[in-house]
Amino acid sequence: MVPSMKIIVAVKRVVDFNVKVRVKADQSGIELANVKMSMNPFCEIAVEEAVRLKEKGLAKEIIVVSIGPQQAQETLRTALAMGADRAILVQTDVAAEPLAVAKALKALVQKETPDLVILGKQSIDGDNNQTGQMLSALLGWGQATFASKIEKDGGKLNVTREIDGGLETLSLRLPCIVTTDLRLNEPRYASLPNIMKAKQKPLATMTPADLGVDVTPRITTLKVTEPASRKSGIKVKDVAELVAKLKTEAKVIS
Ligand code: AMP
Repeated sequence: MVPSMKIIVAVKRVVDFNVKVRVKADQSGIELANVKMSMNPFCEIAVEEAVRLKEKGLAKEIIVVSIGPQQAQETLRTALAMGADRAILVQTDVAAEPLAVAKALKALVQKETPDLVILGKQSIDGDNNQTGQMLSALLGWGQATFASKIEKDGGKLNVTREIDGGLETLSLRLPCIVTTDLRLNEPRYASLPNIMKAKQKPLATMTPADLGVDVTPRITTLKVTEPASRKSGIKVKDVAELVAKLKTEAKVIS
């Protein structure tokens, strides 16, 4: 019989991907007041993949975890509405850095003993691309990052990864860490009945201190700036003028 996996999925609450972010006047960070927040898109893909594994009978329980403020409960409820079984919020108002998140996840992994931890490949706010890799190192577990396909193969997991110029397929012994890439799946929308049902699912809250983790930042952001604005274009009257400008002004042809 194929053993059924217990899966932890890490989900982060970030600025919604549709929001055009604005830099604070003092350049200390980005404006978060009155900004729509949502689940990090790569984390949605991670939840979707766990739910698909459960629907295929390959997973028995999905636990979603977030390290963040009280409002991250909404993110966890979304994951529960997509099909996760229970949630854990490690509540802190400190913007936890990847190492602190990885340490909190490690402590939860040691409590929950899952067979698989799925994370997004990167959070779209910090663009760190670090947490899954750090967790793998802290646990001493194998990892497959940037997964575009996951298949269970007895007690192993075959993971196809997107690498420069092609695909690579790895076989990993369980337990292991996987981080998701964009093309792994298309996450479902939670239906209204499932959103209602999710309100009844268990959501436990604890603090980083309960897990013995210090989330004090170790990195200071010196400055955040907007990207340079593009110069407006001009209209040329014919191909000859275009070629002339490409030669003499843009100097991209000779
Ligand atoms: P990062 O290393 O910050 O780019 O994040 C990669 C992935 O780690 C995310 O997609 C999440 O799965 C997980 N992660 C990062 N920060 C958190 C957090 N505060 N709470 C839960 N999961 C997180």
